[in-house]
Amino acid sequence: MLYLLAPLSDYRLVYSPLVEAEAQRHQKPGHVPVAVLRERWDWTLVPDSDEDAALVDTDPKDLPVLASAIQSGAGFLVTGNVRHFGAHDLAAHGLSAVHPGLFLAHHCSAESYLEVLAAISAGRLREPRNPRSIHESEIAVQLPALFDARRNLFDSAAADLVHEPPGIVFRGPRCVHCALLREPDVDGLCDSCRHRPIRLTPDRTLS
Ligand SMILES: [Zn+2]
Repeated sequence: MLYLLAPLSDYRLVYSPLVEAEAQRHQKPGHVPVAVLRERWDWTLVPDSDEDAALVDTDPKDLPVLASAIQSGAGFLVTGNVRHFGAHDLAAHGLSAVHPGLFLAHHCSAESYLEVLAAISAGRLREPRNPRSIHESEIAVQLPALFDARRNLFDSAAADLVHEPPGIVFRGPRCVHCALLREPDVDGLCDSCRHRPIRLTPDRTLS
């Protein structure tokens, strides 16, 4: 979803060779390797980094990932394991760790979301294979905040679905919505974003 939505949204995605290797290790047999997809779609690799000596409260396994994100100048580290990244380390480098569902809830438009769901449906040979069922089964489970943000695109049946939130979904000093260093709360929002009607797709370009 992150990659499919990127060309239609306001963010630019990068990742390091180590992250790619890890992703490939978790791929199911028969799937196109991530490295092949990257070359096909021209995704951007940034160098691995082992300059993690100054990092103090991040899970040792994830130190190279954080070091690489810092070195690349990223504002957000989008991860399913927000809790692995330490509050001190993130604050020291102006970086927030965000669950992909929460990130996408703030950085893709309804139109883009529908376009990507339609594209996924068109290429599917197995269930779920229509936009609504992908939204209600896969997105609701894997990217619950995105599902929540886009409930109103489909009719009311979707409102009854329950899903387990994925634990900690945000940590860090940069607001998930406006991308400014404004000491956001645990939901990722700074005071000023919380207190004004949220436009789900900001105009700013993130890098
Ligand atoms: Zn904000």
